[in-house]
Amino acid sequence: MEAGRVRDISASMIRRMFEIVERAKKEGKDIVSLTIGEPDFITPKEVIERACRAMKEGFTHYTSNFGIEELRIAIAEQYGVSKDEVMITAGGSEALLNASLAFIEEDSRVLIPSPSFLSYFTYAKLCGAKISEIKTHETGFVPTPESFAELMDRDVSVVFLNYPNNPTGAVLDKRSAEEIVKIAEDYGAIVISDEIYDKIYYDKKPASLVNHENVIVVNGFSKSLAMTGWRIGFTIARKELLESMLKIHQVNGVCAPAFAQKAVAEVIESGEFDKIVREMVSEFRRRRDFVYSEISKLYWTVKPEGAFYMFVDVKEDCMKFSEKMIDYGVALTPGKAFGSWNDSFVRISYANSMENLKKGMERIKRYYEDQGA
Ligand code: PLP
Repeated sequence: MEAGRVRDISASMIRRMFEIVERAKKEGKDIVSLTIGEPDFITPKEVIERACRAMKEGFTHYTSNFGIEELRIAIAEQYGVSKDEVMITAGGSEALLNASLAFIEEDSRVLIPSPSFLSYFTYAKLCGAKISEIKTHETGFVPTPESFAELMDRDVSVVFLNYPNNPTGAVLDKRSAEEIVKIAEDYGAIVISDEIYDKIYYDKKPASLVNHENVIVVNGFSKSLAMTGWRIGFTIARKELLESMLKIHQVNGVCAPAFAQKAVAEVIESGEFDKIVREMVSEFRRRRDFVYSEISKLYWTVKPEGAFYMFVDVKEDCMKFSEKMIDYGVALTPGKAFGSWNDSFVRISYANSMENLKKGMERIKRYYEDQGA
């Protein structure tokens, strides 16, 4: 018998889309998938070669729960914090769950801007909290300190922020982010700042919220080093907060893969990390510019400042639109998956080749023209 805490959690919409796409592919349909939530690049050889070497050297066992010193120090230097404030986790997702279980009180309220990454809603539900969403559609997909303050009270235990944002690519400016953190602090709430896309930005550099008393920064290398399958994430927070999360981490992820930790540490130390990221971001920029210039001729969207997603208002039910687009040969993620007020939106991921993006845009345009719009 399923436990009550998971009864309310559904993956049905994304699963339904997945099944529709799989069925269409089996029927031999040519589908361009713009649903991908990870860089399409292969993991850089600099990481792979070092990981192979590390495995041979014996990095195949448990590490400290906090992670290997070398990686903690490399991350601490990147973010200007002490290594004691860094904990390595099995991906960003593990860090998010650790932080949620450690700080979301049962029956408390959790603030989530909409649109946002689906998992935050799941964490809040798992912890038995109530969700209050902040509408960001009229403010460039970022919450304003005012909209945030309106919903804030002593019942709020945790606030999720995620900039650059999945699914919109929006970046929150440093001043607003810090004002929000201050308001949360005044009410005794913890801010979980998911900065997993912080290295993938275009013109506006996202501000990290490290070094704030009440902030837990969650990050990882899944996106920045195109290594989603390796499960290397990290948390930065002051020591007392890390200690609370350790109580979950020690029975949850326990530690991240040892050889992968070693490989990432060496890639950062060697200076290759920045070069790898620069090349990847320059390719994402080319794709963003192309997709934005094509899509904005047809539908309303906000030009993304980071990540590799675009959130588009197609002015019809997103499920129906996504299903019809399959017939035109494009798979998209329905906006409903990202919180309230998103029923007429779809997410486009441009983590795909230029060739596929061109095909995808042509097909969306054909649909648009067929509507006689
Ligand atoms: N946070 C956001 C906003 C994401 O989009 C994702 C993955 O799509 C994650 C966290 C999880 O990343 P990881 O693969 O490190 O668990």
